[in-house]
Amino acid sequence: MPAEKIKKYLIYIRNILFPKKCVSCNQADLWICQKCLDKVPIRQLPEFEKIRYQDYIDKIYITSYYNDNNIKKIIDLFKFKWQENLEKPLTYLILKFISKNKLSTLISNSILIPIPLHKRRYLERGFNQSELLAGGLSKKYNTPICTDLIRKKYTKHQTLLNLDKRQKNIVDAFVLKNNKSILGRNILLVDDVITTGASLNEAARILRQAGAKKVNALVLAKN
Ligand SMILES: [Zn+2]
Repeated sequence: MPAEKIKKYLIYIRNILFPKKCVSCNQADLWICQKCLDKVPIRQLPEFEKIRYQDYIDKIYITSYYNDNNIKKIIDLFKFKWQENLEKPLTYLILKFISKNKLSTLISNSILIPIPLHKRRYLERGFNQSELLAGGLSKKYNTPICTDLIRKKYTKHQTLLNLDKRQKNIVDAFVLKNNKSILGRNILLVDDVITTGASLNEAARILRQAGAKKVNALVLAKN
């Protein structure tokens, strides 16, 4: 069977197993309706939240709250259940956060770097959720995306580890293919959820070592 056909078939099965309906009000045929999406709380800066690992990151921008039920359900669907069309509502929330906090200059003056997945995990999932979010931002603000940051180490899911082991698990997980595009530039790392900050911090360490000027991070929610 050709790959396209197999994919269509799998999507068909998946839609039976997980019928599409609004995660909040059950309206059919969409994952979140506009009304429920607009109820997701968007943070107002400055809002301080302690992140365990952030020595190499200048500033971390967090769009919303993972304990908000709707956003948690959407992110989990996006990440764990192979639902790739969720970048639209999630990007919508990030754009709302950017406009509410007047961060558009920050975005357009940066180079976007999505936190990469290891090739094996990418194949398992079929897409990189951070890349899709960065793609939405890049489109809106005409900001370049750099995909030279590679995940060379296949690590255990950070979510399966206790908070102390996460830092150790991620050390030397990333490598930068070449530093031309980031030299002396401001970087904005993009990821979906931040917990301890171990992954973002390790990516920032590599980028700084390679000559990046500032490294900020933008995420959807803090777990
Ligand atoms: Zn709804």
